Amino acid sequence: MAGASGNTMAGNNASSRIVFLGPPNSGKGTQATRLAEALDIPAISTGDMLRSAVAEGTSLGRRVEDVMNRGELVSDELMAEVVKGRLAQDDAESGFLLDGYPRTLPQVATLDRILEEQDQSVDHVVMIDAPEDILVARAKKRQIEQGRADDTDDVVRRRLLEYREKTEPLVGHYRERGLLREVDGDQSIEEVQAAVLAAVGAS
Ligand code: AMP
Repeated sequence: MAGASGNTMAGNNASSRIVFLGPPNSGKGTQATRLAEALDIPAISTGDMLRSAVAEGTSLGRRVEDVMNRGELVSDELMAEVVKGRLAQDDAESGFLLDGYPRTLPQVATLDRILEEQDQSVDHVVMIDAPEDILVARAKKRQIEQGRADDTDDVVRRRLLEYREKTEPLVGHYRERGLLREVDGDQSIEEVQAAVLAAVGAS
């Protein structure tokens, strides 16, 4: 009952197909989880999906492990399969928040195509950014605290470079489409959260 009414709410919400964009360590993962919870939609993190696949040793995991550990991007073709499969699941029917996809212009086209097939489209693209020195300092902190395999200095640099080269062009693209909502990530978690809610008209 509670689940059904929650779904109806999300279904009636015309603005529940959301993409999160931002460099590594901008805090977008944390904010994505919080916003999805507030809107009662699934937070779909492609990074988390791939890390689970690696941890479980699935065939997908084996195909992406080396690329991920180098801080490079998984191929657009493979990501299209992953995202298409995930968005086809029931819980994503009335809305979703994508964290970490799309990350390249071809991925933007793929997402548009997947949604078009269901007469849907992206409602908001939330862009969380912070100055480079803040991003690097946060990466170092996470390296110490979490010991992630893809958080060594070289890999952190590679991930930022990949972002600047391949993902940053999406900002201009979505701005032109009138979908971009920019949020300053150099604030407290609570302040960023409030700004994100306001950005998607949910505050
Ligand atoms: P994330 O946790 O979002 O930073 O993702 C971790 C890693 O997963 C990235 O460094 C990439 O290797 C891979 N990855 C996640 N999402 C994508 C995507 N949309 N396209 C290509 N690679 C991705």
